[in-house]
Amino acid sequence: KFISFEGIDGAGKSTHIGFTADYLRGKGKELVSTREPGGTPLGERLRELVLHEKMHLETEALLMFASRREHIAQVIAPALTRGAWVISDRFTDASFAYQGGGRGLARDKLDALEQWVHPHLQPDLTLLFDVPLEVARARLDATRALDKFEQEKADFFSAARNEYLRRAAQFPERFRVIDSTQTIAAIQVQLAALLDGLL
Ligand code: C5P
Repeated sequence: KFISFEGIDGAGKSTHIGFTADYLRGKGKELVSTREPGGTPLGERLRELVLHEKMHLETEALLMFASRREHIAQVIAPALTRGAWVISDRFTDASFAYQGGGRGLARDKLDALEQWVHPHLQPDLTLLFDVPLEVARARLDATRALDKFEQEKADFFSAARNEYLRRAAQFPERFRVIDSTQTIAAIQVQLAALLDGLL
């Protein structure tokens, strides 16, 4: 099974990825925990570029999908073929949210890239950790130095969040929206139930 974790920066997904990995391993599943952009040696080099260099919006989108192409070929597809579980910190929905909603790249271009790079592969479950912007910003400020995306204005994150929620409504069979203002313990109860449903 393939599970993707999504949400704007500061929504708290990293905490819950750790819990999910432990939970699935505890059930005896072979688990591959990975991330985007990145997930492979080449993908991690692309991540450095895309997170820290200024570039044309379409270059940014193409590099995200280049990283993803490599990630699918080297990590995701082989793991799924051998029956392992894959949990990824972000996948294609992040490109729709950030390059699309946030930066304004036309959705049909992203659809075309998605059709090109993974016409048949979709996560079995996409967990969208959703919080109001003020909560996300407060968490980020408290935890770490901000990268180029995280320094963006509030309307960027608001557009990214709206696009995530729009996609969740468009693909209700694979998306579950988690209210990430809840306590970590409450979210873990919800996650365990969702994972049990897949197991
Ligand atoms: O999830 P993580 O915090 O590692 O993401 C790194 C940065 O890349 C974030 O600031 C996120 O906003 C940005 N990003 C992006 N477009 C994507 C994926 C991530 O702008 N498709």
